Amino acid sequence: MTNPSEQSVQFEDLDLSQPILQALDLKGYTTPTPIQAQAIPPVLEGRDLLGIAQTGTGKTAAFMLPSIDRLRESDNQIPFKSCRMLVLAPTRELAGQIAQSAKDYGAMAGMKVHSIVGGTSVNKDRNKLHRGTDILVATPGRLLDLIDQKAFNLSGVEILVLDEADQMLDLGFIHALRRISQLVPKERQTLFFSATMPKQIKELVKGYCHNPVQVSVTPESSTAERIDQYLFMVQQNEKQSLIEMVLSGRHEVPGKIERVLVFTRTKHGADRVVKKLAQAGIGANAIHGNKSQPQRERALSEFKRAKTPVLVATDVAARGIDIPGVSHVINYELPNVPEQYVHRIGRTARAGKDGVAIAFCAEDERAYLKDITRVTDAEFERLDLPENFRAVVEGVGPTKPAPRGQNRVAKKKVRPKPFGGQRSGGGKPQGDGAGGGDGRPQGKPKQKHGARKGRPNRSGGGGGGGRPGGNGGGGRPGGGGGRPGGGGRGRSGGGVRTGARTS
Ligand code: AMP
Repeated sequence: MTNPSEQSVQFEDLDLSQPILQALDLKGYTTPTPIQAQAIPPVLEGRDLLGIAQTGTGKTAAFMLPSIDRLRESDNQIPFKSCRMLVLAPTRELAGQIAQSAKDYGAMAGMKVHSIVGGTSVNKDRNKLHRGTDILVATPGRLLDLIDQKAFNLSGVEILVLDEADQMLDLGFIHALRRISQLVPKERQTLFFSATMPKQIKELVKGYCHNPVQVSVTPESSTAERIDQYLFMVQQNEKQSLIEMVLSGRHEVPGKIERVLVFTRTKHGADRVVKKLAQAGIGANAIHGNKSQPQRERALSEFKRAKTPVLVATDVAARGIDIPGVSHVINYELPNVPEQYVHRIGRTARAGKDGVAIAFCAEDERAYLKDITRVTDAEFERLDLPENFRAVVEGVGPTKPAPRGQNRVAKKKVRPKPFGGQRSGGGKPQGDGAGGGDGRPQGKPKQKHGARKGRPNRSGGGGGGGRPGGNGGGGRPGGGGGRPGGGGRGRSGGGVRTGARTS
């Protein structure tokens, strides 16, 4: 989203009804985001829409607000075992979020909203949909289950929304989507959203939409402007030590660390990182496809409340979820599909804020990095590893067991806590010793992979491995780049709560 002040249009100018304007007022939204300003007028006119946008751009309101007004206008009865507006979403989390938005925006208009997703009781869904609903948000699989059981039909659909269509394709929903396209009435309005437009999506658009108005808020596959992207070149078996040092504040990184979303490629990898972080006294949860719905919800809620401010996720699980306040995205493993990189880092810098993305790239991931740079135009600023990093890895890294006393402390005495990090008496190297000894060039200036033009260098100086609390030589004491939220508390750029407290 661009800064709302860049937009001259206000919600009042968009011909939305009073109940919608009241709902927006309650949410505290005054200015439409670019996709809202572009999409709302044609949708109100009844046009089909093709929106090329990622989550974080405000696209949910872009389709929900005018749709609710269209539903109010047509004023049809709620159809038996059917719905008037159907929103298809790829994941349970996204479906839940959209349903919540529909409830918020539709509250004043008296809209009945339901959502159905896999992994929950089908019987409950059958019962709640028996009398039909105004708005149904569904994942495709569960929707077809109910249709096959004759518990639901699509004959009443006036408005159909496909959200994150590219992700639905990635998840193998193509046949489901083709089937659904045969089941919805021909006379309907279709709003189609996708972050990317590969060939298969273009074909799907042809099947679903009639002469759609196209709105695009981010150029295809381009990386968000406000995200500062950094890169560590690090060996695979050193990554765990590095992430522990970063999260505990023993190695400073740009930006004030508040909530960190960590990406791995596999579910197993996510679980492993969480387990090891817990051993290091850093509270984290994993979210991926093998987790039950209650587990996923709990993880998300703890993350949103910053109770457990590290969430380790796979691409599929995290796609599309709206988590306000993610300060950092760490790509613990680089995605092998470059577009996924865009989706991942798009979890930060939401709702007009800036964000930091840090990639951990191992030797065997260089090809992925190259693809990402080529496809997304990403510009990485390279960060140095901690000065005594090798010593740390050898002391506590995954390749060797940690020193005895320390493991015991981590496992038995230290309960995982948010950014547990530096523990007094933990015996870990503190990261500010001179020492070196890791065989790496020391004090090397950061190498830029295509410096961001016109941007201040936001990373810390060559000090590396400064102590939490910011006396270790640089960091970005909430200042350098003038990023909102980056300063004001006099804490170092890599600010970390626990570390700051204990130092
Ligand atoms: P979305 O892309 O729909 O997931 O929305 C991203 C975030 O922006 C959500 O937290 C929305 O609640 C928020 N948002 C949407 N529209 C606006 C707006 N006009 N002003 C401020 N925040 C908004």
